Amino acid sequence: MTHIRPERRPIRWLALALPLVFLAAACGDDGDSSSDTTTTTGGTTTTFAAGTTMARVAESGTLTVGVKFDQPGFGLKNPTTNEVEGFDVEIANAIADAIGEDVEVNLVESVSKNREPFIQDGTVDLVVATYTINDTRKQVVDFAGPYFVARQDIMVRADDTSIKAVGDLNGKKVCTVKGSTSATNVTAAAPTADVTLFDTYSQCAEAMGDGRVEAVTTDNTILAGLVQASNGAYKLVKAPFSDEPYGIGLKKGDEAFRTFINDLLEEMFDDGSWAEAFESTLGKIGLDTPAPPKVDRYTAA
Ligand code: GLU
Repeated sequence: MTHIRPERRPIRWLALALPLVFLAAACGDDGDSSSDTTTTTGGTTTTFAAGTTMARVAESGTLTVGVKFDQPGFGLKNPTTNEVEGFDVEIANAIADAIGEDVEVNLVESVSKNREPFIQDGTVDLVVATYTINDTRKQVVDFAGPYFVARQDIMVRADDTSIKAVGDLNGKKVCTVKGSTSATNVTAAAPTADVTLFDTYSQCAEAMGDGRVEAVTTDNTILAGLVQASNGAYKLVKAPFSDEPYGIGLKKGDEAFRTFINDLLEEMFDDGSWAEAFESTLGKIGLDTPAPPKVDRYTAA
């Protein structure tokens, strides 16, 4: 499933003081084009060294990004407009705009379990999909960011009084998603929970609606969107039990692209465009804008 956004509205982060030249030697792309690529972003000319991912994307005019299509606030396909909307989509748009104002974003639906494979096999250039940075995943992909820190929590039916903390999930039917940190974390924290794994959190919410499960567990921000969409049927337990720093997944070893995105994130944190993107998406489902996190420019293994 793909979605090409037809037009992009003007945004404030176009005039960025990003480094002008990235060394081909430092990048993980094997492109053999010999000349640098120059693009314009909001009146600023940027040159990308031949062979970098930024040069390839600028030349092709398309940045392909894996996002969720069923998560309110982060990536949700609006059934009326068919547009995919949310904070993750705004981050993807900002990256495309920073590469070149003519660069289109091609949004590909990613579910939790196919994020690493999509990056590794080149289905996508990036994944921006409520994607927690962790050491296991860093063995096969790299991450720019974090650009947000969520916490794992629990969603139950509004009339449930039996589940107040993660330990109460022992012996209960709980739903979460294949390939997620939520699955690993809940199994560690509530070892006798009866865990059902689906591909998406919207499937879990449906399963709670018809009584197949008693609780859904994942990041509090994802659950907040599902609670809002339930029209009073579900509530958030508000007993968080993990930190989930969201990163932008990219091909392992592509240091130039990682640095480019980390520079952009810091610009967005400083100039208010990150907060603006938050308010126009997650703000609308009732979340207060937090202070931005600190970018982690880790040394790749
Ligand atoms: N942030 C967690 C993860 O990356 C849970 C949410 C998700 O599956 O997208 O696994």
